[in-house]
Amino acid sequence: MKSFQQRERALATLAKETGYVRKPHGDRLRVALAFPNTYWVGMSNLGFQTVYRLFNDRDDVVCERVFLPPKQELAELVATRAPLLTLESQTPVGELDILAFSISFEWDYVNVLTMLKLAGIPSYATARGSHDPLIVIGGAVTFVNPEPLALFADVIAAGEGEVLVPPLADACRDATSRADLLQRLALERGFYIPSFYEPQYGADGALTGYAVAPGLPGPPPMPVRKAAVKTTDALDPPATSIFTPETEFGARFLVEVVRGCANLCRFCWAGYNYLPVRPFPTDRILQLAAAARPHASRVGLVSIALCDHPDIERILAGLLDMGYAISPASLRLDDLTEPIVRILRSSGERGITIAPETGSDRLRRVVNKTVTNDEILDRADLIFANGIENLKLYYMIGLPTETDEDLVAIRDLTLQMRERMMKHARTRGQVGRIVGSVNPLIPKPGTAYQWLPMEDPAVTERKTKRLRALMAGIDNVYFNIKSERHSYYQALLSLGDRRVAPAIEAAERNGQNWRAAVEESGVDADFFIFRDRSRDAVLPWDVIDGGMKASFFQAEYAKALREEWTLPPKRQQENARLLPVIQ
Ligand code: SF4
Repeated sequence: MKSFQQRERALATLAKETGYVRKPHGDRLRVALAFPNTYWVGMSNLGFQTVYRLFNDRDDVVCERVFLPPKQELAELVATRAPLLTLESQTPVGELDILAFSISFEWDYVNVLTMLKLAGIPSYATARGSHDPLIVIGGAVTFVNPEPLALFADVIAAGEGEVLVPPLADACRDATSRADLLQRLALERGFYIPSFYEPQYGADGALTGYAVAPGLPGPPPMPVRKAAVKTTDALDPPATSIFTPETEFGARFLVEVVRGCANLCRFCWAGYNYLPVRPFPTDRILQLAAAARPHASRVGLVSIALCDHPDIERILAGLLDMGYAISPASLRLDDLTEPIVRILRSSGERGITIAPETGSDRLRRVVNKTVTNDEILDRADLIFANGIENLKLYYMIGLPTETDEDLVAIRDLTLQMRERMMKHARTRGQVGRIVGSVNPLIPKPGTAYQWLPMEDPAVTERKTKRLRALMAGIDNVYFNIKSERHSYYQALLSLGDRRVAPAIEAAERNGQNWRAAVEESGVDADFFIFRDRSRDAVLPWDVIDGGMKASFFQAEYAKALREEWTLPPKRQQENARLLPVIQ
């Protein structure tokens, strides 16, 4: 593919957009903001759009987007060795000052390497020079475990974009050299410079700590403290600023309503890592929605716990008055009230997604999902009674203390929900469907289960078979049960350290044949996935201090084994006192 063809495609893409920023480069700091997946996926990512706006809000910065080209285009670029270009000015990415990746999913790690390759930039930081762009890695993965990407990054920006973009841009403006820049950033909250940290391993291969690389004028802070906004009281909510019909969610206005979730489910990295709960100002949410109305007829409400916003009913009613159809990203079961369900139905919503996680009250106490089967069934009744026909359910298997009885309980709970669906369908004369999604638990970093090994694959395999048999042949109920193999490689990327990098590199080269990649690179995946870490002093992700204390997680795990809940604090001050996350 020739560069002029890339340019034509970029111009055609821009012609369909509203709201992109085009600035002359001049002596501005030039940032390529990369999403390691296609335009179609990336433009539906609110975090990506927000960082684009934050950079471009500064007069001294010009930020342009770059995406993984779709398959055909990618093959053409590789064949012709044409350089990867930014979208706005079609400048070769390798010519800019910063290449910043916003990464949300482990599966996109290989795409980071593909994009570096297309841009003509060496994958490993040690192979790059000061003429290469500074490679910055940020996004949701930095809240979990950025260590598998550590060798590819010059800088890992850990935390929330609102408080990371200004110091990054300032340091780039003021630094006299690349070395000076890295040293300045190492002293800023939220910036982790992997090359300054030398991992130390014990005889059994377990990580024992990090040494600061010799020759530095002063040790960087250790561990690096995640950076997050203290309060969102006066902050504009992240919201779609570029509209295009060419995305996964189409012309939808996305807006973040509240950050964080007070429920503290013991397996949930997002619940623990976005604390404390911080609602965005109601009036600004509604003002931005009103301004976006000419561009979108549907609003997507982005939050992990929408109803933790104290003003949620007013927000929903306001959006409905503007004529929006409303799509909530996720609704927590215990917050589903009649007014909320009614508003969603009035806005045209035909289905709701809820996450019972498991079928038994006992196991829900183990994972700290603080609802009971009776409450779930009441909510299902409420949903179907209000004319919503379809229900999507999220379940997990491989939870601590899980038995076969818990699998049967998933079937029984789903059947009871189906009964309610059929009862209301009979009066309406139209039957909907229940779709269940079942995933094996990956004991994620930054949770109360972070020390646990993943369940033995033979056991998971047996459980998935059993569950498939239990759920087979039930009319209007469809279950998608993920295999343990799929989760195995995801777990490697979640739980690994920087020794996993060669496997990512090999997977990038071989078209993501992970089995071959792990074999070829000699990475001992089982060591990272199935090892009981409870006796290890150091975890790979400990290099970033996410704000939660290990002693708190240990106490939560002990409570899990005692089948005890930790109830969510009712008020936010209590939440902040209990969990001093952002000092
Ligand atoms: S309710 Fe959902 S978002 Fe909140 S902690 Fe539990 S799983 Fe996470």
